[in-house]
Amino acid sequence: MLGTMMDVPLLLSSILRHAEAYHGDGEVVSATVEGGLHRYTYAEMAQRSRKLANALARLGLKTGDRVGTLAWNGYRHLELYYGVSGSGFVCHTINPRLFREQIAYIIAHGGDSVLFFDLTFLPIVEELAEQLKGLKAVVAMTDEAHMPKSAALPGLLCYESLIAGEPDSFDWPSFDENTASGLCYTSGTTGDPKGVLYSNRSCVLHAMAIAMPDGLGLSANDAICPIVPMFHVNAWGLPFAAPMTGAKLVLPGAHLDGASLHALFEGEGVSITAGVPTVWLGLLDWMDTHAREFSILKRVVIGGSAVPPIMVSRFHSKGVEVRQAWGMTETSPVGLAAALKPKHQAFPAEQRLALECKQGRPLFGMEFRVAGAEGREMPHDGKSFGSMLVRGPWVAQAYFNTATSPAHEEHPGWFDTGDVVTMDAEGFIQIVDRTKDVVKSGGEWISSIDLENIAQAHPAIQEAAIVARPDTRWGERPVLVVVLKPGASFTRQDMRAHYEGKTSKWCVPDDVIVLDELPHTATGKLSKKTIREILQEQMAGRAPDPEIGS
Ligand code: ADP
Repeated sequence: MLGTMMDVPLLLSSILRHAEAYHGDGEVVSATVEGGLHRYTYAEMAQRSRKLANALARLGLKTGDRVGTLAWNGYRHLELYYGVSGSGFVCHTINPRLFREQIAYIIAHGGDSVLFFDLTFLPIVEELAEQLKGLKAVVAMTDEAHMPKSAALPGLLCYESLIAGEPDSFDWPSFDENTASGLCYTSGTTGDPKGVLYSNRSCVLHAMAIAMPDGLGLSANDAICPIVPMFHVNAWGLPFAAPMTGAKLVLPGAHLDGASLHALFEGEGVSITAGVPTVWLGLLDWMDTHAREFSILKRVVIGGSAVPPIMVSRFHSKGVEVRQAWGMTETSPVGLAAALKPKHQAFPAEQRLALECKQGRPLFGMEFRVAGAEGREMPHDGKSFGSMLVRGPWVAQAYFNTATSPAHEEHPGWFDTGDVVTMDAEGFIQIVDRTKDVVKSGGEWISSIDLENIAQAHPAIQEAAIVARPDTRWGERPVLVVVLKPGASFTRQDMRAHYEGKTSKWCVPDDVIVLDELPHTATGKLSKKTIREILQEQMAGRAPDPEIGS
């Protein structure tokens, strides 16, 4: 027997309609590419999204057509999120930090009909001009006053002119909630990038889940600033969750340095922000150098790669809570958030810190398994480790237009994350390592994350990575690669002294290499692959230290 409740589809346009109707005066503030801050309300945003929807219809788009975007976090990108997906088209966010060939591949593979771009990315679009000739339109996200003259792009349209003459009214169509709404390609560190095709339903459910108090904890009383880019995994769902809750939304544009972020947070009363560890390193260092504090910020959500304990402590000392979150492109992205339970509040500070440094516990809707050898489920004891599998309504079950399946071979219906984890009795999951980053020494596994966290706490070290170096005796040995703080020095002896007593002797890295900077991926994570390549070149001819690793 079916229930007798209304079958109302979960559509992204319903978020926009809700924000306009009940939080119409809620603010959206954007740092713009053209310069200065742009400020308007959810009511105005909804009105402009409807004009955009009319313009897209006039371009002749049909349900399911892909609309590419190469853009920062800003109000026009937000209008595209709703105008495109709300019309039944697919908003294909493209990561401009990818290599040109990958961007070209993604636009072709995604089959985009229209491309919108921020002026910053004009050089990329000009380089791809030949490939874009068959598109229905290429649109610069600016006004006539800032329109570039581009010989390579003769038919270039201007966003403001495109929507200017359109009517304000548009009836958002109703359709199956499983209709595709967005497309995002994985960064493709191995093989070609793969497209994850989100649906209206998956995005709405994900937004509801992250908004919950023990998710990212969002409310109409907050001002939320996603530093995570809207060009990758929907800025962790915040452009959907913020208007859903009625929170003020503050979009940082291209200005991601410490000084700009601090000024934006203070100026706009930002209470919650979210981003990868690298961004916070820049902000915290800038604040220390300039003796600044936060007056309003209450919570920073950190994810994308492991959060070093020293970073959590630095935020705590500034009165800011850290909420670690775990996610992947394939999981929309958030699956875990490290919110403490009541019993943990009485724990000593050190134990609470240890929990906050875990990746988190499952959001409702997401199920996790820790699969050991032969796929058997490992005990939830916080020690036994295995591959982390996940399933849920916002997890990909297939990639866009490829036969490659993301499902785990021995566990059909479960997605294999590629992370090796432990789970404790409370459901807190901790990543030991990514399967491909773990150092396998003498048959034992060494967690690169653990060793990086120790290194990161040394006062001379700005940023640290641990990578495996092939070793004839042990198979692999860990090597520490660091960037030092200005004027600091750090020798092998310093390294050994620092690791002493903090990890087993056989886990201490064999060597330390100092670089001017560490390479990062298009999503701001340390690129271990590139570091391993640099290491191979640097290490040629250098003998391993015989005392360590024996
Ligand atoms: P993106 O495309 O956003 O870089 P990926 O899907 O490539 O994301 O990366 C997902 C991976 O990032 C996860 O499998 C995990 O290894 C890592 N990751 C994400 N969040 C965390 C976290 N909080 N701690 C440690 N690793 C994380």
